Amino acid sequence: MMKDTQSRIYLSPPHMSGFEQEYISEAFTSNWIAPLGPNVDAFEKEIAEYVGVSGAVALSSGTAAIHLALRLLGVANGDRVFCSSLTFIGSVSPILYQGAEPVFIDSEPENWNMSAAALEQAFIWAGRDDKLPKAVVIVDLYGQSADYDRLLSICNYYGVPVIEDAAEAMGASYKGKPCGTMGKYGIFSFNGNKIITTSGGGILISNDIAALEKSRFLATQARDPAPYYQHSEIGYNYRMSNILAGIGRGQLKVLQERVNARRKIFELYYNELKDIEGVSFMPEAEYGTANRWLTVMNLDQEYCKVRPGKIMDALERENIESRPVWKPMHLQPLFAGCRYFPHDYKYSVSDLLFNTGLCLPSGSSLTTVQQQRVIYSIKNVLSKFR
Ligand SMILES: *Cc1c(COP(=O)(O)O)cnc(C)c1O
Repeated sequence: MMKDTQSRIYLSPPHMSGFEQEYISEAFTSNWIAPLGPNVDAFEKEIAEYVGVSGAVALSSGTAAIHLALRLLGVANGDRVFCSSLTFIGSVSPILYQGAEPVFIDSEPENWNMSAAALEQAFIWAGRDDKLPKAVVIVDLYGQSADYDRLLSICNYYGVPVIEDAAEAMGASYKGKPCGTMGKYGIFSFNGNKIITTSGGGILISNDIAALEKSRFLATQARDPAPYYQHSEIGYNYRMSNILAGIGRGQLKVLQERVNARRKIFELYYNELKDIEGVSFMPEAEYGTANRWLTVMNLDQEYCKVRPGKIMDALERENIESRPVWKPMHLQPLFAGCRYFPHDYKYSVSDLLFNTGLCLPSGSSLTTVQQQRVIYSIKNVLSKFR
């Protein structure tokens, strides 16, 4: 047995509730092992009810959900799509699957999400050569809602639909409205590291029932209604299996507890580290409640000479996992040559956050003893660099 002082502390590991097994057993007993089945139907209904939308389609990943949303909006070869730059690749690769051109939008310093100023600039640019985007993908970063009143008013002015990538923001809200429900389509991810998980999976949500029906068709190999296998358009094998939906049902029961736990973890990091010169955290905007999926520490370069990478290495030596902030998409080799609109012509917020931010272990199963070990290690490294 390894002592707790040595066991590995992960960034955001899966955290089972104990309810999952029941639903999985049910699936086994009734032999609903084939994809689809009663757990899938129930999971979709439960999620739709939870966030208050008309319907949901459970899928194999959050990335698949974004891909289907783009398909439903008619995004095709040569089209433009605007997207938050500070995000995970899953927000963006579906734009490439459709042969479309991503245009990246910076964050704003107040909430780290899509900058209204940069979005405005991008629309002005796109309007000038008469090629508006077919969609705007807005990400709710690290479990915090973007500022939708401002962003939607711009998108609505230009008549461009929004896909809300709430992969990290399930259980968070904006002005009392659940994240995921702000645009024409919303998506959640149930990947193993997210606030609740099906080991792998995602879901597409909307109030447009006809569109969701179409997405079900596309996600099930686009089979025409015929006695034989007939196909008139390209489809995908994107549906979630009945077993995994069972895990999701067990997880959904404890979502609010998971949000509370992650918020509590943030509070402890904040209280223990906030007084160190140069240390700050992702701010929580007044307009909403974040789920604090990951606690992100920020190191002001003026006051704190140590780079996040150094802290990451030091934590690794203590068997603690941490991660840099997402490397912005406009800095990725894959997207060299793509257009990028910074928050301000003088500086790019996402570049700065990438250079100064570090994601700390934030899993809802993290014990206080483990978290104190992380805090102690961080204090220790920081003290050596001043
Ligand atoms: C995890 C994630 C995705 C992709 O979800 P998968 O289920 O892993 O495909 C998309 N966007 C963001 C912001 C994510 O964090």
